Amino acid sequence: SKRPTDDQYVLAIDQGTTSTRAVVFDHAGRVISSGQREHQQIFPQPGWVEHSAEEILRNTREVIGLALADADVNRHSLAAVGITNQRETTVVWDRHTGKPVYNAIVWQDTRTQVICDELEDSHGSAAFRESTGLPLATYFAGPKIRWILDNVDGARERAENGDLLFGTMDTWVIWNLTGGAGSPEGEGRGVHITDVTNASRTLLMNIDTLDWNGDLAEAMGIPLSMLPHIRSSSEVYGYGRRESLLIDTPITGILGDQQAATFGQACYEPGQGKNTYGTGNFMLMNTGEDIVRSENGLLTTVAYQLGGQKPIYALEGSIAVTGSLVQWLRDNLGLISSAQEVESKAKKVEDNGGAYIVPAFSGLFAPHWRPDARGVIVGLTRYVNQNHLCRAALESVAYQSAEVVEAMGADASDELTELKVDGGMVVNETLMQFQADVLGVDVVRPKVIETTALGAAYAAGLAVGFWESTEEVAANWAEDTRWSPQIEAAAREQLLHQWSKAVEKSFDWVD
Ligand code: ADP
Repeated sequence: SKRPTDDQYVLAIDQGTTSTRAVVFDHAGRVISSGQREHQQIFPQPGWVEHSAEEILRNTREVIGLALADADVNRHSLAAVGITNQRETTVVWDRHTGKPVYNAIVWQDTRTQVICDELEDSHGSAAFRESTGLPLATYFAGPKIRWILDNVDGARERAENGDLLFGTMDTWVIWNLTGGAGSPEGEGRGVHITDVTNASRTLLMNIDTLDWNGDLAEAMGIPLSMLPHIRSSSEVYGYGRRESLLIDTPITGILGDQQAATFGQACYEPGQGKNTYGTGNFMLMNTGEDIVRSENGLLTTVAYQLGGQKPIYALEGSIAVTGSLVQWLRDNLGLISSAQEVESKAKKVEDNGGAYIVPAFSGLFAPHWRPDARGVIVGLTRYVNQNHLCRAALESVAYQSAEVVEAMGADASDELTELKVDGGMVVNETLMQFQADVLGVDVVRPKVIETTALGAAYAAGLAVGFWESTEEVAANWAEDTRWSPQIEAAAREQLLHQWSKAVEKSFDWVD
């Protein structure tokens, strides 16, 4: 194949929790164009969250068309395609028809608590944590696969016959773009693969060997034949087929969304990290070739693996609900009519008026891991108004992140000197200032905040020589805005103390 040239582009597909985007990047890492489609959030019961995998696939095809048309670029100008995705969200489909047997079960979904409790009793969580670096929690993909096999009519039998495939959204999209079910005879079928970062979120992959752990899969009741092949984050996986816009275009990068943001933020050295503010918040810190096991409620995960090179690991603090609390104020309470309005309301008041919101909608993730927690609003008085609640919602994002930063500091040897941020919420300057205040360190936003898509583009471009090295892409990183702490240490401690009391109020709600 031809060598890529610098006047070509890389297309990144970002299959997120709320929307799917396609972004065209040039060699300098600049956004040339993008397309975006939101998909429906399906809440069939309290604690359940689903997406239609077919809707997501339609949106993916549409946004690819939108982004290419907007840039006036066609597949001949694309050096490579990368994909990044909401992690852990689980789809199971029929390999012969390409039809999902059930909606995709989203990472925030807590229906698998019973499965996790049973596994804890029968096998113990240590077996899972030791091999996978993860706590036994509803968050991860494995228990969601198990739920589908247990609850969809005939699914277990079909899975055991080898007729069903599992994938996270990277796997689902790539299988479809590279041919899907193929011809009626099964020829030209899509590639069934995932990368090490997505596989590291299943509770099924051994993070040392980067292979599926057969014992854990058996404990979970999942046939190995359903699982995709695990590949590196940057290599040629296949070529676009039936998706005519990408026909013959190499697909060469996969990173789970948080790993992609870490990669896009150029965190290539141990001790470098970032915090992403999206539906949830996710802080990752590069720990190099070392597998660091957390003693403070963080996860051990794969940061990336470039082709045949050694994998690079990370410590992660995952927070389930941050931006989705803003959506909840908008959609469930009608307190605001748009996400931006949360800031204009919050700015009308000096402080939270004594109110704290702990959005434990899916229990609490890092650093607490409390499935028994549920959301609370505390500190209410007759004085508190809707502006205070908007402020309290934003503050909850910063407090939860501060807890994760503290855990990171306790686990890792390096002290945090500044926090690189990205994601949909970092346009909110009130939040960014408050984050710097409660952390006591600077918060730094880069020029390109599309770091998730950018990371996937970098992984894809590196595989084909469009970019030569991580040093070359790191040189593209540029600072945009910096917020420095404006409150004293004593005031910071007082706020964090009140927050801890509020968090305790959320515990022990679910029996
Ligand atoms: P994801 O990739 O998880 O789908 P994004 O990074 O696109 O999410 O961020 C979207 C989230 O950011 C939404 O949950 C939305 O509520 C929140 N958000 C968007 N704009 C603002 C804003 N100005 N202030 C606060 N939150 C915002």
